[in-house]
Amino acid sequence: MLQKNISTFIACDSEYEDADIVLFGAGFDSTTSFRPGTRFGPSAIRNESFGIETYSPYQDKDMTDYRFFDSGDIDIVFGGVRRTIADIAMRTDMILTDGKLPFMIGGEHLVTLGSVMAAKEKNDDLYIIHFDAHADLRDDYLGQQLSHACVLRRCHELVGDGHIFQFGIRSGDCEEFRFAAEHTEMHKFDFGGLEKTVEKLKGKKVYFTLDLDVLDPSVFPGTGTPEAGGVSFEELRKAASLVCGSLDIVGCDVCELSPVYDQSGVSTATACKIIREMLLALS
Ligand code: MN
Ligand code: MN
Repeated sequence: MLQKNISTFIACDSEYEDADIVLFGAGFDSTTSFRPGTRFGPSAIRNESFGIETYSPYQDKDMTDYRFFDSGDIDIVFGGVRRTIADIAMRTDMILTDGKLPFMIGGEHLVTLGSVMAAKEKNDDLYIIHFDAHADLRDDYLGQQLSHACVLRRCHELVGDGHIFQFGIRSGDCEEFRFAAEHTEMHKFDFGGLEKTVEKLKGKKVYFTLDLDVLDPSVFPGTGTPEAGGVSFEELRKAASLVCGSLDIVGCDVCELSPVYDQSGVSTATACKIIREMLLALS
């Protein structure tokens, strides 16, 4: 059984046995292609979460009325890519086995692979909704197949054609966009088509992965590969709440906050608010 962490995300201090949603941090950034620093994401998010309210005026719900447990961070072996993915899969599997919803805080985007592996193990017909500025569909990045630039390509190998729905994508190489045209359903630039996707996936098991760099860098500068032309906070809040509130989510993650590039603290505060809205929409 997992033990209570001393420093939790705000209002995530229920007992493990009672909790419906279990958070954990995966501060891994060894394959980051440009500017590293997401290893500090989970701790920054926990610290800054005390700067937001537990009550959401958007949903008229308060976190204190629900049972969330923060199980702390995975011990990361930096450079140990396969080991880290295996450890993430193990933590996710443990939470799923106990009938709870795993909610991972990254870390770079490769951490999603471990969580999706465990979710797929438990759910044969698994769908993925992916919000990101980047397609993350490279077969390899500088020869590495296990890279945050390849994470959705590796996920595709697990879930297959027609099971990945991407939104907000505005960056990638030509090959990635060609791959998407044949194998995933990609919605470029914004959340156009999300409502239809949600209708289509009603009753299906869905894993939701949110790379925070889908936000415009003017809203969210604290990330390693900022990409101009992103969505607004309101657009993301509505989209993430729709996904979390309408679908059978079996696991989710929020990744790519890099606090070292967040000198004003606004990116971390934004991440905390999105996580609160997701937790409440999932409840
Ligand atoms: Mn990504
Ligand atoms: Mn990205």
